[in-house]
Amino acid sequence: MKQKTPSAVLAALWISAAAVLGLSACATQPTQESDITLYVFHCGNIESRDVSLFSPGVNQGQSKQLTNSCYLIRHPQGDLFWDTGLPDHFGPDGVEFMDGAFHMSVTEPLQDQLKSIGVTPEEIEWLGISHFHSDHTGNANWFSNATLLIQEAEFTAAFGDNAHQYGFDPDSYSGFNANNSKRLQGDYDVFGDGRVVIKSTPGHTPGHQLLYLDLPQSGRIILSGDLYHFTSNREQRRVPAFNFDKQQTLHSMEQIEQLVQSSGAQLWIQHDKEQNADIKHAPEFYR
Ligand SMILES: [Zn+2]
Repeated sequence: MKQKTPSAVLAALWISAAAVLGLSACATQPTQESDITLYVFHCGNIESRDVSLFSPGVNQGQSKQLTNSCYLIRHPQGDLFWDTGLPDHFGPDGVEFMDGAFHMSVTEPLQDQLKSIGVTPEEIEWLGISHFHSDHTGNANWFSNATLLIQEAEFTAAFGDNAHQYGFDPDSYSGFNANNSKRLQGDYDVFGDGRVVIKSTPGHTPGHQLLYLDLPQSGRIILSGDLYHFTSNREQRRVPAFNFDKQQTLHSMEQIEQLVQSSGAQLWIQHDKEQNADIKHAPEFYR
């Protein structure tokens, strides 16, 4: 386990002192050190000009708006950031992508959202990225003080000679290498208490993974990565044409649906714009 940064230690001391003195913290801060909290951030907008890329043969030529989400899990033993979105520099005007198949923009810079909760990327201990498509690695280099938690298969693809063939943009994560990466062989319990668990779900990419959370008050929540991109694809188990391996994807979907059943977890689809409209975003948080 990494040492806490001085600011994290000071924050913990302040919170402990405040608890002893009976002081209540500001409404946007966790009030007890033992809490685990989850912050959700807007990390860009994606217009798909032909949504059938995600659902082969269905709704051909129809456009669909997707959102893009990032998350911070604050645990007494450290901070885990999950996915880093589109890069802030895309800005509100955005960029065309894949010969106009997509338009991607950022209307709410992640930097501003982090400031709103008093967090800097440099103080984050752990970075989890569901997979290395560029809409998930946009701001990754800000977090290069952290240890990257990545499946071995994804590491091989992302840091090998053919990263572009997987739809990855190595420049966006050039701050990482073998020295600040922890390569995983399947599921990984980040803090050893079953509250924050990375689940291996290959198929969308060689080492796709998602995040299972068990929060003290809000209960169990699964952050989907790109296991699904929107609700109808979940309902119909549709596999995007550009996935790395269709059979692996269907197997991962089956495993996660079984986990949803057995745990009662909510499944939050990170790109689903309609579902995200009902989710609290920073500076509000879940605990
Ligand atoms: Zn994505």
